[in-house]
Amino acid sequence: MKISVLGVPYTLRYVAKAKDPGLEDCDGYCDTSTKTIVVREYTTAERKDPSRLKDLDAYKRKCTRHELAHAFLYESGLSVNAQPTDCWPLCEEMVDWVAIQGPKLYAAWQRAGCL
Ligand SMILES: [Zn+2]
Repeated sequence: MKISVLGVPYTLRYVAKAKDPGLEDCDGYCDTSTKTIVVREYTTAERKDPSRLKDLDAYKRKCTRHELAHAFLYESGLSVNAQPTDCWPLCEEMVDWVAIQGPKLYAAWQRAGCL
């Protein structure tokens, strides 16, 4: 699927971990060089594993928002020259904050009629 990130077309793909070595140590990634976002797709067996999160679709959506936030920070130029690697545009906590709070912000803005 194609997604516009500040006017730049990105390809979003959902891929099983076994089919993408880039997912070896993470559940998603954003390759700004190829404008590609990959988020892990869970197999039926993984979904039945009792040790996993019960709502993997909600987790997958959160991961997608996280990788999209990385793309927006990159395409806006905020993360390109960020140093050190833990400063806010590259900070995983900040990116997760956007990914987790984004839907709540959007809902509040929508309710307030200020969009
Ligand atoms: Zn990240």
